[in-house]
Amino acid sequence: MSLRSVCVFCGASTGTSPAYRAAAEALGQAIARRGLTLVYGGGAVGLMGIVADAALAAGGEVVGIIPERLKSAEIGHPNLSRLEVVDGMHARKARMAELSDAFIALPGGLGTLEELFEVWTWGQLGYHGKPLGLLDVNGFYDKLTGFLDHMVNEGFVREQHRTLLQKNTSPDALLDALEHWKPLVPPKWADQQPA
Ligand code: AMP
Repeated sequence: MSLRSVCVFCGASTGTSPAYRAAAEALGQAIARRGLTLVYGGGAVGLMGIVADAALAAGGEVVGIIPERLKSAEIGHPNLSRLEVVDGMHARKARMAELSDAFIALPGGLGTLEELFEVWTWGQLGYHGKPLGLLDVNGFYDKLTGFLDHMVNEGFVREQHRTLLQKNTSPDALLDALEHWKPLVPPKWADQQPA
C-alpha cells in the first residue's frame, strides 16, 4: 500500500527517559524524509510537540487536529502547515483517521492507547483497511503486546486482527512494514450468522 500520510498518536507528556524524545524526533524525521504528511493531535506539548517539530525541521508537511477546548491546555502548535480546530474528541479522531493512510503509536498515556485502540477496532470491523504500528522504545509496549497475545490465546481476539498491529523499534523499519502491509480482512462479523 503506498502511503501519503501517517497519523501519530503519542503522549502529551515526554515520559521519564530521554529515549522517548529521541524516538519521537527520529519518527518525525523519518516521516518527513519519505515525503509523507504527518497527521497528529495538534498540540505543542510532550512527545506531540517533539514529533511535529522534528518533521517540520526536516521540511515535512504537518497537519494538526485539535479540539477547541484543548487548544490552550495542549497549546495548539503555532507553526504547523495546517491546524484544524474541531468541536470535540470524537471529531478529532474521525478527522485524523480520515486524513491518514496508516497509524503509529509512540509511547504515551491513556489518550494514546484510547486513540490507538479505537482506530484498531474500526479496522477490525472493516470500517477502514489501514495498517497500524507501535514504535517501541526500551520495551515500553512489551507488557501490552504480551497481553494482546494472551487475548488471542484465550479466544477473544482473532490472529488476523492481532496482526493488524505491528511493532518495531526502528521508525524506518516500521514505516516499511506499514507500506508493504496487505489488507487481509474480511471484517470481524463477515463469516458469522446471528445466534
Ligand atoms: P496521553 O497519551 O494521555 O498523554 O494523551 C495523548 C493525546 O491523546 C492527547 O492529545 C490527548 O488530548 C488525547 N486524549 C486524551 N484522552 C483522550 C480520550 N479519551 N480520547 C481521545 N483522545 C484523548
